[in-house]
Amino acid sequence: MRCLMCESLSLKHICKSCQSTYLKPSLYKRHLQDGTLVLSFYKYDDIKDLLHTKHTDIGFYIYNILAKNSLKKFANTFNMQDTFVSIAVDDNPDENYSHTAILNRVLNSSRIKPVYNKLLAQDSVSYSGKSRAYRLANPRNFHLKAFKQKNVILVDDIITTGTTLLEAVKILQASDKEVFLCLTLCDVSP
Ligand SMILES: [Zn+2]
Repeated sequence: MRCLMCESLSLKHICKSCQSTYLKPSLYKRHLQDGTLVLSFYKYDDIKDLLHTKHTDIGFYIYNILAKNSLKKFANTFNMQDTFVSIAVDDNPDENYSHTAILNRVLNSSRIKPVYNKLLAQDSVSYSGKSRAYRLANPRNFHLKAFKQKNVILVDDIITTGTTLLEAVKILQASDKEVFLCLTLCDVSP
């Protein structure tokens, strides 16, 4: 096949050279309104063309490549004393795969154990291009399935206003969980 970015022959959808040149992760920090730390690895604008493959037949491969270049590297250097479960926001596979489950899976490491299908939206509202007011007026109404671990890392692909993550944090806290931090692939803020 040909590399999606440079069009040279490649065994992967994005060649090794482009992965190391264009997908080198950074670490962007911000905080939700309640103070919860959110770490992101890319700026949305830097990878938006790749994210647009989400709903195409190569989306699965592209998300795996993005995950391996960012969240997987983070997990391998994550050396807290406690152990954490990682939970993806709404990892219900709406097509053939769940893009947030791909991000969650690569976090599997000595201190982080991914669990799946714990936090599913009951209302599948699309927030794409919607205002903060719209997002606040139309919450996802997450349903949290029981699990025993207390320390949680939340995972999502994009942070825009932070409304979704904040809603997820509140639901986890209401079940006596502690959200240590949130990890998102990319941050929309400039
Ligand atoms: Zn390339």
